[in-house]
Amino acid sequence: MTVDPSAGAEATGMACRELVELVTDYLEDALSPAQRARFEAHLLECDDCPMYVDQLRTTVRLVGRLTEADVSPGGRDALLTHFRTWTRAGGPR
Ligand SMILES: [Zn+2]
Repeated sequence: MTVDPSAGAEATGMACRELVELVTDYLEDALSPAQRARFEAHLLECDDCPMYVDQLRTTVRLVGRLTEADVSPGGRDALLTHFRTWTRAGGPR
């Protein structure tokens, strides 16, 4: 996907890291309408985050809710590390 750098990410201002911070609230439907709009805009323009959100959504479906391990700082760092590896391995960015 080609994104014009002058009109793309800058317009929404959300980075993958911020999405990770908000994802539990998103899945619990706890975001404000403005936050939700920015979150969903990022999902449309990002190649990695939709997979990440799908994984967490599946986790919620299986266990009923996100566990401490899913959202603890350690778990989040592991996911962010995974993100970086992911992007380096095959992503367009
Ligand atoms: Zn992203």
